[in-house]
Amino acid sequence: MNLENKLSRQLSGIPRSGIRDFFELVIGRSDVISLGVGEPDKATPWPIREAAIRSLEKGQTSYTSNLGLESLRVGISGYVEEHFGVSYDPKKEILVTVGVSEALDLAFRAVLDPGDEVIFHQPCYVSYGPTITMAYGVGVPINTRLEDNFTLRAEDVEKAITPRTKVIALNFPTNPTGAVEPPEELEKIAALCVKYDLLCFTDEIYSELLYDQAKHVSIVSFPGMRERTVLLHGFSKAFAMTGWRLGYACAPPVLLEAMMKIHQYCMLCAPITSQIAAIEALKLGATAYEPMRQSYEERRNFVVKRLNEMGLNCFNPGGAFYVFPDVSCTGLTGREFALQLLEEHSVAVVPGEAFGPSGATCVRCCYATAPDLLVKAMDAMEIFVKKHRK
Ligand code: PLP
Repeated sequence: MNLENKLSRQLSGIPRSGIRDFFELVIGRSDVISLGVGEPDKATPWPIREAAIRSLEKGQTSYTSNLGLESLRVGISGYVEEHFGVSYDPKKEILVTVGVSEALDLAFRAVLDPGDEVIFHQPCYVSYGPTITMAYGVGVPINTRLEDNFTLRAEDVEKAITPRTKVIALNFPTNPTGAVEPPEELEKIAALCVKYDLLCFTDEIYSELLYDQAKHVSIVSFPGMRERTVLLHGFSKAFAMTGWRLGYACAPPVLLEAMMKIHQYCMLCAPITSQIAAIEALKLGATAYEPMRQSYEERRNFVVKRLNEMGLNCFNPGGAFYVFPDVSCTGLTGREFALQLLEEHSVAVVPGEAFGPSGATCVRCCYATAPDLLVKAMDAMEIFVKKHRK
């Protein structure tokens, strides 16, 4: 039987993840210092783990309501109001999901008809394009530029709008660049959403991880945005809970109900143990993530300084835990740089092209890595850059 012929045609438009491709080279190599995977280097804070352990001891192992535990949704509502200045009704405007990943998938599938366009900024998180395609939509990437510190220009957004545009998808701070959008520009993009009657999906997964005393501003807080926005957030990054697979979507009831239609059949509910852990995470709030955030800020300062000193062009990103240096001075593409650095020094970084073509001259380094390993990785990169520098 030719199994290839049996596959959905829709899948033929889906590339293999550039990150996955690259990490197959690293798997099983204990000698490698990895700045590759985008996740915290620390385990989930102990009180959060303990809450989950206690729940298991009590035998709390059932399904929950499709929307998620009510006490968690109440907690999310309070947290979102405090952080984003927008209030959502826990009964009909909040859906607990299996990570932001599921929330994104539901949001696209809930609104897209074949041919509907979604504008998003690139370089971006690898799953945006494929998730849009799998929802039968058409992704319209806008390339952001190193000279703008990879922020998005509202004028570029307006040029990309067509009669088929349905959604503008944003992610600030951004994976893979760490870019933070200036509030004035965000306000202009909000005005475009209103002017052209567009939906906005805002992926806020790094919103707690901001540096230089910046305060997070979300597009949802601008006039006319709450009614057209799906706010996506989760516990993976700020609370170091990647493996718990827990996120949520906040949206007006009509949008949330449409997402719920899919979720109730495809996922039923997010895992109860993770939901209970998340309740504890929200109770702790900044007490849980602030020590990690401060430590990332120190590491960011160190890495940005070292990369620029060795001659790479690396802007100082305002958030998340990534730097995105341009490696052109070596005469290598980001991909060649990553492959050769791995081969010569056993340091893994991700080729920027994995996040879109405008990242082709860059590499992504995740600095949520133990400080002693970061020092070793920077020392190795310095030797590597010196050797290859044109
Ligand atoms: N959105 C962005 C921008 C990410 O960087 C990631 C993971 O790296 C996700 C979503 C997925 O998050 P989750 O673990 O909540 O599914």
